[in-house]
Amino acid sequence: MLAPGHRPQFAEHQAQESHTSYHAFMLPATMLAMQADTAARRLVPVRRPLPEPAARDVLLRVLACGVCRTDLHVLDGELPPHRDGVVPGHEVVGEVVAPGAAAGRFRIGQRVGVPWLGGTCGHCDYCRMGRENLCDLPAFTGYDRDGGYAQYAAADERYCFALPAGYDDAHAAPLLCAGLIGFRTWRIAGRTAPRRIGIWGFGAAAHIVCELAVAQGQEVFAFTRPGDTRGQSFARSLGASWAGGSDSAPPALLDAQLIFAPSGPLVPLALASVRKGGTVVCGGIHMSPIPAFEYSLLWGERELKSVANLAREDGEAFFALLERVHIQTHVRTFALAQANEAVQAVRDGALDGAAVLIP
Ligand SMILES: [Zn+2]
Ligand SMILES: [Zn+2]
Repeated sequence: MLAPGHRPQFAEHQAQESHTSYHAFMLPATMLAMQADTAARRLVPVRRPLPEPAARDVLLRVLACGVCRTDLHVLDGELPPHRDGVVPGHEVVGEVVAPGAAAGRFRIGQRVGVPWLGGTCGHCDYCRMGRENLCDLPAFTGYDRDGGYAQYAAADERYCFALPAGYDDAHAAPLLCAGLIGFRTWRIAGRTAPRRIGIWGFGAAAHIVCELAVAQGQEVFAFTRPGDTRGQSFARSLGASWAGGSDSAPPALLDAQLIFAPSGPLVPLALASVRKGGTVVCGGIHMSPIPAFEYSLLWGERELKSVANLAREDGEAFFALLERVHIQTHVRTFALAQANEAVQAVRDGALDGAAVLIP
């Protein structure tokens, strides 16, 4: 038995060893990170030590990180803060620079993607019924644990994805949430075998889903903010057969409607132009209140659903599909230190496609 006084020495020795192994990869001691200041609704640049990977984590050098609307909800406090000074970002493309003590799924130098679902408990009812996206004790990237608005990030390797080769870092980043959540939303709507799909809110998720749907032979009807003619022509350029403002009616009743804009008043509008038996799916994590509407809008076995998070199986299916169907993601890149400008551009709806930070 060790005397109590020996234990700190042992811990110190271990710490030194892991410190040495970091130096083997020539890693800096500190990094630039943009952390959330929810009171000021801004990101603040800070220098921090590199994250310590836990046993099943990989330490990643961040190559690109997309800006998702959920990051705005975190920053604005529309999602209740889980941690002070969290580093947002859950569309992380990174290169493995150091594995945790028990990590071995990816090799050093391999490019991996980190999505919103950063961990699950594995034993709640939802995990056990194969619905881990609804886990009672989840760990979300850039919310419960620090995300990719930084030069380095640590992520549990069991929730990371190997990325398809045909996408460079900046163009791969939006696939990790806009693409994945868009894909899950689209798949859930697909249970009724839609031929005509309406997409509401033509941002990062919508532009990816539009291309996927068109590639599968579906007809896409794009709804933008009223008067957003630039967004409407962007949608048409991606293959949408009709594009108009959310205040206009589509030329035909639609089989499914996907709502990506965080605006509750869109829900009754979408229900009004979906056919009997059709589905309206809300793809966002946050939405303003939905106004009261007549039951007749829902009657006729129309369905209204939400999509919550993602399961790892969504990622596997999505990236397998991308081996066959190439999606051209549209991005505007910003330096990491310009994260506030990138966030503002998403807030203003000033982009065609997605904003991506490059550390
Ligand atoms: Zn669980
Ligand atoms: Zn997201």
